[in-house]
Amino acid sequence: MAEDQHGATPTTNGYDVVVVGAGFAGMYLLHRLRKLGFSARVYETGTGVGGTWYWNRYPGARCDVQSIEYSCSFDPELEQEWTWSEKFATQPEILRYANHVADRFGLRCDIQFSTRVLSAAFDEQRRRWAIRTDRGDEVSAQFYVMASGCLSSSKNPEIPGIDTFAGPTYHTGHWPHEGVDLTGKRVAVIGTGSSGIQSIPIIADQAAQLTVFQRTPNFSVPARNRPLEPAEIADAKARYPELRDFMRHSRGGQLRQMPDKSAFEVAAPQRNARYLEGWEAGNLGGLLGAYNDLMTDKAANDTVSEFIRGKIREIVHDPQVAEALCPKDHPFGTKRPCLDTDYYATFNRDHVRLVDLRSTPIATITPSGIDTTTESFAFDAIVFATGFDAMTGAIVNVDIRGIDGLGLKDKWAEGARTYLGLGVAGFPNFFTITGPGSPSVLSNMMVSIEQHVEWITDCLDHLRRHAVATIAAEPHAENDWVQHVNEVGDLTLYPTANSWYMGANVPGKPRVFLPYVGGVGTYRGICDEVAASGYKGFVLSS
Ligand code: FAD
Ligand code: NAP
Repeated sequence: MAEDQHGATPTTNGYDVVVVGAGFAGMYLLHRLRKLGFSARVYETGTGVGGTWYWNRYPGARCDVQSIEYSCSFDPELEQEWTWSEKFATQPEILRYANHVADRFGLRCDIQFSTRVLSAAFDEQRRRWAIRTDRGDEVSAQFYVMASGCLSSSKNPEIPGIDTFAGPTYHTGHWPHEGVDLTGKRVAVIGTGSSGIQSIPIIADQAAQLTVFQRTPNFSVPARNRPLEPAEIADAKARYPELRDFMRHSRGGQLRQMPDKSAFEVAAPQRNARYLEGWEAGNLGGLLGAYNDLMTDKAANDTVSEFIRGKIREIVHDPQVAEALCPKDHPFGTKRPCLDTDYYATFNRDHVRLVDLRSTPIATITPSGIDTTTESFAFDAIVFATGFDAMTGAIVNVDIRGIDGLGLKDKWAEGARTYLGLGVAGFPNFFTITGPGSPSVLSNMMVSIEQHVEWITDCLDHLRRHAVATIAAEPHAENDWVQHVNEVGDLTLYPTANSWYMGANVPGKPRVFLPYVGGVGTYRGICDEVAASGYKGFVLSS
């Protein structure tokens, strides 16, 4: 696989656009910008493209949106020439795909790898951004775009003694490229979100002893992954335009029909039969989309949550372990649910143990292992599956300064504020891709990335054609949008959970519901209307 080592020679040029990040968002943005004749430079910390799929190489990593849906839709030839092998592609296959996209569209020459953007400041006199990197680059650009990812700023747990452990530690979001052999080892995994739940069954296959430290049990549904049949691949390839169109105008950006019934419109036996169908379906939509009030009515949600708890109790033999694995502190779906292969059954294996941190919290990490309040454990390796500073982390890691030197981090001290998740008042000619305030992580991200890239590039083209030098979100438009995002969020159960959607996993992060829950189709309509009205809510200056 091609890995680039650009970045040795610092650049001092000016560009039309500087982009941070060479995941699917940064790559597609670069492709569209070049097609429109803009000069662009992409900076990427990693040595290769792929973003999420470059960094998250832990065992078992794969997508949980079906591969055919989780792929680029912008080029019909690309769609036809690429053939996914499994219903849910593995990380290596998705990374191969990302590299194929980079090669096919000749993107690498405009991406500088091994380079972290440190700061970006808007120069009001020149009406340009000044960008600095850790390789000594100092470049200027008319427009500056953060395609830096919603789940790219990984987070170690705040546990005393974390640096004292004598053996190796690994974070799922920064897994070593050469792989890790855990054969015969005593391994600890801390964290039971999607990354933990995907990796735990595979680590259990290798390890001599596996101890899983769980703070909050999560809902997980069987993926029922399998190879794709030639006939279904042929069908998808024949119908891609129709399928993509459906996804773009759907709620979650997937091939999922929206339910039209409340959970209480049917009797309990019929409802449970529907949930069983959802459980068997091998996707999250089967249960999340069973009834239309599961995410808005706690009593309705209780019916599906209890169905899943029943399944956990059926699978896990030891009733005490089963009970500890049953999520009870949040409604199903309000923390990102997981798709797994044999996750719950893994706890029936003799060498796998669950430690429930709600009853025995971790006191400290020691040179030899982990001490809880009641027991000392010895380990050869510790895996942190402890997640990310989601949606805002990678953005505020860069010192971004707008009008009057205002820092974005300071502006967002009480919570992220954007207009449409695309622009920020006080930060002209600055855009975020899948930023806070957009559907983003609540959707099939490929669909949301493409919608943002297309909206931003159409906007830049419009500005150029009308000789507009700057575009800036208006404070009142930003206020109205933030209020709308909160109002719509408050109609749902999401704010009731301590989730990363709420910033709750990062100590000190303001508790704000970050994504927009209005749905990708509705949101696309709103963004299109804003563009059609001559960019209502933005000030355009020549
Ligand atoms: P990323 O892929 O995160 O790329 C951002 C890039 O920006 C990174 O490579 C990073 O190194 C770079 N960067 C950040 N800051 C800087 C800086 N200051 N300077 C230089 N470079 C910088 N979504 C789905 O829809 N379906 C799924 O099944 C799914 N599975 C996932 C599985 C995992 C393990 C994870 C972590 C996420 C998953 N996601 C999924 C979400 C996933 O992040 C998106 O689908 C998508 O890959 C994001 O692409 P992106 O280009 O926006 O960001
Ligand atoms: P996550 O969902 O945030 O899970 C992190 C886990 O670590 C949680 O169980 C958390 O417990 C625990 N944790 C954090 N700090 C801890 C501490 N100090 N002590 C003990 N436990 C601690 O992170 P993730 O699993 O990496 O997933 C993040 C997101 O990436 C997912 O929600 C999903 O959107 C995406 N993803 C998708 C897939 C996929 O299937 N395609 C795979 C991986 C990731 P609490 O819940 O108590 O905070």
